[in-house]
Amino acid sequence: MIKAYAAKEQGAKLEPFEYDPGELGAAQVEIAVKYCGICHSDLSMLNNDWDMTSYPFVPGHEVAGSIIQVGADVTTLKIGDAVGMGWHSGYCEVCPSCESGDKNLCATAEGTIVGRHGGFADKVRANFDSVVKLPEGLDMESAGPLFCGGITVFNPLVQYDVKATDKVAVIGIGGLGHIALQFLNAWGL
Ligand SMILES: [Zn+2]
Ligand SMILES: [Zn+2]
Repeated sequence: MIKAYAAKEQGAKLEPFEYDPGELGAAQVEIAVKYCGICHSDLSMLNNDWDMTSYPFVPGHEVAGSIIQVGADVTTLKIGDAVGMGWHSGYCEVCPSCESGDKNLCATAEGTIVGRHGGFADKVRANFDSVVKLPEGLDMESAGPLFCGGITVFNPLVQYDVKATDKVAVIGIGGLGHIALQFLNAWGL
């Protein structure tokens, strides 16, 4: 059984909740959650703002933890690996986006907290290709937000080819903005 925190209905308080995840899929891994960030999307989902929440609802999509089980087909991750997982917990693997390496654009990507239970739990599962190995020495306690708020602001910096000589304005220093400032500062902008 997986021990989690869930809201039983729209906007409800999170309460202890257990569920049986069944047999591990061949392409799945199971992560022992060590830390999990809180993102505004967790709140939007809790309140069913996007009309796609199912209850009981377990939030949490900024997961940092370690692998404790791997499916039979998983070759890229092993038990004990420190990993992170964000908004996506799986991809179709066959669409043009997936095949060209832009899995984040997969039209049928599985959402970590959409129709399934997220990372406010002792364990969470995902397909191996949506789970990212943490670099050696990265502080796991603060790594979780890199996988949603962090990648959201990292992506445009790469897409727009931001250079150390550029000037960049960050509008709004919230969950995303505070990470953007840290990236920009680290890159010397
Ligand atoms: Zn998020
Ligand atoms: Zn796809």
